[in-house]
Amino acid sequence: MTEILTAPATGSPLALLFDIAASTAQLCAGLVQDEERDLAETAAADHIYTAYSDTLGRAVDHDTWTGFPALRDNNVQPSAVAHLDGGLWLHHTITADADYRDALTLLVPCACGHGYVPTLLEDERDLLELLTELRATGGRAVHSDDTGGPYCDSIPAT
Ligand SMILES: [Zn+2]
Repeated sequence: MTEILTAPATGSPLALLFDIAASTAQLCAGLVQDEERDLAETAAADHIYTAYSDTLGRAVDHDTWTGFPALRDNNVQPSAVAHLDGGLWLHHTITADADYRDALTLLVPCACGHGYVPTLLEDERDLLELLTELRATGGRAVHSDDTGGPYCDSIPAT
């Protein structure tokens, strides 16, 4: 049975079948990615309608989200981002921990112009507190050299 280990002759039925299998696998991978994008957008929209119904649920349409498939090599789950305006972004993903929790992060451009300050949002009250602060600064995070907390260097602006 050693002939199984050699490549099938070009133009043979087996060669054709192998080609079909290879392109089908590629197509399926593409479909999985499309599905992951859609699911990521839906998960993000569902989360803000449920947990942030009075704020983000009213302000951010389902269409605003752009989904991204998982990056399996880097163990990154499917995610979705929404641009709010003024350089502020929402990022949503489902954590891969045992409990599969929603993780919603607000990315705010730093006043220094060199990066973004990420804030993981706990709930709607947390968001409202943050929005009150941001309203006073025109949507810019106050730059901090304190490396103890989230600081802008962690997400450099391009
Ligand atoms: Zn800064």
